[in-house]
Amino acid sequence: MEKILVSQCLLGLPVRYDGGTHGPFDLLRQWQSEGRVVSVCPEVAGGLPTPRAPAEIPTGQGSDVLAGQIRVLTIDGSDVTPAFVAGAEQALRLVREYDIHYAVLKARSPSCGNNETYDGTFSGLRVAGEGVTAAALRQAGVRVFNENELADLAKLLTE
Ligand code: SF4
Repeated sequence: MEKILVSQCLLGLPVRYDGGTHGPFDLLRQWQSEGRVVSVCPEVAGGLPTPRAPAEIPTGQGSDVLAGQIRVLTIDGSDVTPAFVAGAEQALRLVREYDIHYAVLKARSPSCGNNETYDGTFSGLRVAGEGVTAAALRQAGVRVFNENELADLAKLLTE
């Protein structure tokens, strides 16, 4: 049975930067009960505490971070790039360990966002882009969905 890598904050775990969480999501619960779910919070896995200062990617592009071209900064200006990259590496390790081809990651996160992020100005402006972990997974061949695309993944799993 296909395993799915899932952001821990989508599973009700209070790992968001502000100590919050998301959900519940019926399909994620179903996949958990089927034993498909492998969960990760890349920012916590990378060594950051909860709660933590919000962070954004100045270009909105996780691939720029992975290429060493841009740093991930908190709202206070602290450089949290090493933790974000370490978290992406942890997610990649899980993908390899469990032979995972699909992920459901939280939309718009600087780690997990799969098609949009915030633009680095901490003003709520969104740009087309990916978080650091989402970019790393895509580059490794994993198809990344967000919590608004669960039905699309469910359809794929039944094909
Ligand atoms: Fe952790 Fe990703 Fe959720 Fe942020 S969006 S709390 S990094 S799992």
